[in-house]
Amino acid sequence: DPDELRKLLDSRIRDVPDWPKPGVVFKDISPLLADPVAFAALVDALAERCAGRVDKVVGIEARGFILAAPVALRARAGFVPVRKAGKLPCATYAQSYELEYGSATLEVHQDAFAAGDRVLVIDDVLATGGTVEATIDLIRRAGAEVVGVEVLLELGFLDGRARLAPVLPDGALESF
Ligand code: AMP
Repeated sequence: DPDELRKLLDSRIRDVPDWPKPGVVFKDISPLLADPVAFAALVDALAERCAGRVDKVVGIEARGFILAAPVALRARAGFVPVRKAGKLPCATYAQSYELEYGSATLEVHQDAFAAGDRVLVIDDVLATGGTVEATIDLIRRAGAEVVGVEVLLELGFLDGRARLAPVLPDGALESF
């Protein structure tokens, strides 16, 4: 039941006011990850949505890794990390972008995908959408196709959904 699942997940995400800086309410998923029932229910739901439809699941550093790797395993897809600058050892594509707090650069290995791979992107929180937008750009530069974006939470007031609308197929962005 999607309502029950939403309630369970909501109850395991805590708001941390003024972190990492004043005015930001940080959505901390640690309690969710620490709860074996909630964590399994989330991974099952994410994997169910994409099973048979994707070749690779991309996790965005760092909390995206924690969700994307078990989803990839369950969906029988490969896992690909999109990492912060300077962490990947081989040739990369790099994309800089602005976030809610500061700016950053993300990278992916140039050989991370086979040509035409269908890719699902997973992260914990969609805020302004800059992180996911940069990730979509990297995946396309690496020769693959983004067929879905799954996030646990959307911060609606920052309108990341509107920002991503022009760069994603209809219905590709899903949250709980
Ligand atoms: P954005 O690029 O603005 O959509 O920011 C999304 C990225 O920053 C994700 O990787 C999130 O994990 C992180 N993030 C941004 N805002 C928050 C928040 N309020 N709580 C938790 N994580 C956040």
